Amino acid sequence: MSKKNVAVVGAGLVGSLHAILLAKKGMKVDVFERRPDLRKAEVIGGRSINLALSNRGFKALEMAGIADEIRSISIPMYGRKMHDLEGNLTYQPYGKDDEAIYSVSRGGLNQKLMNLADDYSDVQYRFNHKCLDIVLDKNEIFFEDTSENKEVSYTYDHIFGTDGAFSAVRGRLQKTPMFNYSQEYLSHGYKELVIPPNEDGSHRIDKNCLHIWPRGKFMLIALPNLDGSFTVTLFFPMKGEVSFESIKTKEDVMKFFNETFPDAVPHMPTLETDYFENPTSTLVTVRCEPWNYEDKVLLMGDAAHAIVPFYGQGMNSGFEDTSVFSEMYDDESEDMLKLFEDFSEQRVPDGNAIADLALYNYIEMRDLAGDKDFLLRKKIERKFSDMYPSKWMPLYSQVTFSHIRYSDALKAGEKQRKIMDEIMEMENIHNNWEDDSVMEKIMSKVQ
Ligand SMILES: Cc1cc2nc3c(=O)[nH]c(=O)nc-3n(C[C@H](O)[C@H](O)[C@H](O)COP(=O)(O)OP(=O)(O)OC[C@H]3O[C@@H](n4cnc5c(N)ncnc54)[C@H](O)[C@@H]3O)c2cc1C
Repeated sequence: MSKKNVAVVGAGLVGSLHAILLAKKGMKVDVFERRPDLRKAEVIGGRSINLALSNRGFKALEMAGIADEIRSISIPMYGRKMHDLEGNLTYQPYGKDDEAIYSVSRGGLNQKLMNLADDYSDVQYRFNHKCLDIVLDKNEIFFEDTSENKEVSYTYDHIFGTDGAFSAVRGRLQKTPMFNYSQEYLSHGYKELVIPPNEDGSHRIDKNCLHIWPRGKFMLIALPNLDGSFTVTLFFPMKGEVSFESIKTKEDVMKFFNETFPDAVPHMPTLETDYFENPTSTLVTVRCEPWNYEDKVLLMGDAAHAIVPFYGQGMNSGFEDTSVFSEMYDDESEDMLKLFEDFSEQRVPDGNAIADLALYNYIEMRDLAGDKDFLLRKKIERKFSDMYPSKWMPLYSQVTFSHIRYSDALKAGEKQRKIMDEIMEMENIHNNWEDDSVMEKIMSKVQ
């Protein structure tokens, strides 16, 4: 049988990983990317942008055979460290013992995936190719070849759309009957800033946790980089009294940061300049359905489900798309139409669930992470979970450390929330939380 000839449109994180997994299944893969080869770019970004990688992502990387290598260039973060207005710190572990999420460079990870894909003779990258349109009945893709300044087209057995939140591939499917689509911007955007390393290259603050400055309506977070720096992100309203719109001058920046994040300011010597040089970006949730068009086109990653970044699951869920596809392919490769349809049917509810969870987690991170009731709630949950691990896995662990379907985790989390609402209503719970009666009550509710 001749090899399947497939296209992956978009050589971001998900597209590059998917290309490897498809080549491993014996397919011939052309990967199209509108940008130049990022490995040849003279200056890669200038700023370090990082992402939190967790178990779902690692599973797909393991399938590609690159998990250990990526782990070795990432920094484990074992919990959240909350900074209050006075600079007091509260620590909350993410999971048990050595469970961690891993801070990894976005550019570094993308490059490693591309290098690995290049090792497969059946994978060919075509950079500077911007997807313009697809003629679906022929499965012919039209590109603008920006280096040659001409239009080209290619035909494939199957096309995978991994071209991100503003996907051109999805744009084509949006014009087909019965394709549902929604896009919703968060009223908050973000700006990336930096905490540089100490002079000796060490980290200025604890590198093995994710730092959060929760301030109710907004927050600042910091994730460590290997070079001793931290990528700091301000999530902030786009408009309004206290917002990106209202901060206009260097004086405004310093006044706002000194009043709001006083213990971070001494670590951010280039804050004034960075604030105005670095872009303000928006955050969008995209949902659509189905993710396939017959057996011709399949959407994955942000092209299928762009989500806000507050659960650290955007890339992880996209990587999970590739591992789930790979597993399903082993059983259903004889009938690609059924495979594409089954994949869409299974993954759409999971994409919607992680979109909801991510939106909720923004409130948890910015508003509740510094809240006494919230911290106690987490402590009680953890105690019960330690005593009866088979009866209670905290929602964060289900999402981050397990491979339970997101849609099941969402349902289980809802049930847990109701139980914990009742527990928090118990008399004098802040003093009595260690009483046996609390654990007994949870057990009675769980059963
Ligand atoms: C501030 C922020 C923080 C985040 N933090 C995390 C985190 O901690 N953990 C996590 O798991 N996720 C995180 N995410 C989400 C993560 O970045 C995305 O989910 C992930 O990048 C999606 O990968 P992708 O390959 O689907 O899309 P992308 O990374 O967007 O890649 C799409 C690729 O397609 C190319 N392309 C676009 N249009 C075309 C076209 N017409 N033709 C050809 N090529 C095209 C683009 O150039 C790009 O290379 C974060 C996102 C943001 C914004």
